[in-house]
Amino acid sequence: MKPRMTSPMISRRTALLAGAALPLAAALPATPARAAAGMLGSAAPQFNRFKLGSFEVTALLAGTRTVDNPNEIFGLNASADEFKAASDAAFIPTDKAQFFFTPTVVNTGTELVLFDTGLAAAGITGALAAAGYTPDQVDVVVLTHMHGDHIGGMVGEDGSATFANARYVTGAIEHNHWSGTDNEGFAKNVVPMNDRFTFLDDGGSVTGGITAMAAFGHTPGHMTYMLESDGQRLALIADATNHYVWSLAHPDWEVRFDMDKAAAAATRRSLLGMLAADRVPFIGYHMPFPAMGFVETRGEGFHYVPSSYQMMLNG
Ligand SMILES: [Zn+2]
Repeated sequence: MKPRMTSPMISRRTALLAGAALPLAAALPATPARAAAGMLGSAAPQFNRFKLGSFEVTALLAGTRTVDNPNEIFGLNASADEFKAASDAAFIPTDKAQFFFTPTVVNTGTELVLFDTGLAAAGITGALAAAGYTPDQVDVVVLTHMHGDHIGGMVGEDGSATFANARYVTGAIEHNHWSGTDNEGFAKNVVPMNDRFTFLDDGGSVTGGITAMAAFGHTPGHMTYMLESDGQRLALIADATNHYVWSLAHPDWEVRFDMDKAAAAATRRSLLGMLAADRVPFIGYHMPFPAMGFVETRGEGFHYVPSSYQMMLNG
């Protein structure tokens, strides 16, 4: 009985489905097997632009690379267990880290101001081109400090100035320090431009709305900068913190690249404390691209809150 009652329903449904499928099947020619679309390789955006008051700010990814054994760079005074716990808590591995190199270019409306120049000329000129700028449009190059990953784009392979029309600004203490050393990168990238430099100290102004803030320790005269336009602020903190987890959660962890480790830790605490208290967004040169976020206090240290759409609301 049951088969007899159900079988007509099944056969009617089957017929309906078959009928529905027929036009489509009829429309499709018999196609030979095709390969899937080709693999294109990893890709990442090269620039991120937003308005800050009447400024236009563009973060530029001038380079990125994977580095092994980051525990040999960060947390030199932390145990392996502490390093693993901090990494686990942030869902990042302990055996590798991704490094980012993020110069920032600011169009104030009257000048194009570039902060740092990356590892090599090709990286910064490529990122500028992606963002719609040519190197000869840059009016001012600001160097936060003289490490190779910040001054490496100053001159091309042939030794010519990458930014042919720029004036240069850096911290007086920083320039004085490196002038007294025998440093190859400084000699190659900075010394040839010495007569086009002006120097500033804590509180000095690059141009209207761009103010230097001393942040010594990473290097002797390392400077950060506060941008302010129409009441909106953004800090460019360069290498005051070099990793979004290890340097923020544990500001006292020693970093191999910090020349004065105690001073660098004190600077991190005071700068991050200010950013957290004032809720000021920042771009960190080595934060994961687009390298922009906020700081909140957490436990004995701080926590990085990546920017989402806040700046997109600026128009
Ligand atoms: Zn750096």
